[in-house]
Amino acid sequence: MSSLSEKSNDASETEEKMKGEDLEFFKSLLTNWMNELLQQADNTRLGMKDPSDNLADPADRATFESDRNFLLRIRDRESRLFKKIISALDRIKDGTYGICEMCGEEISINRLKARPVTTYCIRCKARLEAVEKTIGE
Ligand SMILES: [Zn+2]
Repeated sequence: MSSLSEKSNDASETEEKMKGEDLEFFKSLLTNWMNELLQQADNTRLGMKDPSDNLADPADRATFESDRNFLLRIRDRESRLFKKIISALDRIKDGTYGICEMCGEEISINRLKARPVTTYCIRCKARLEAVEKTIGE
């Protein structure tokens, strides 16, 4: 019979706000992602063992070198992603996760679900991409 807990829930707000449970969701998502990358990095390292005299044939050598370059490129991309994940986890810790670095607005949950490491809202990202395109070509 108690109506004490019945607070009027303002449902007029359509914009989804980051809640504690959302933060937990992104935290575990990012942590899992990070662990996956760590595992992959381990596999890559194992695959990068120098074949020494296994590859006496110069043609095999060349293949090995280009494979290695390929792996290094992947690793480079992964390590950049890795840093992004770490900084996203840092932002969760200090409470700035999901806030656009550029305009300070909240990034929509849907956008964060699609790109959990993003630091820009969709509007700023679109603006940045437009600038990059102008500079790029
Ligand atoms: Zn923004």
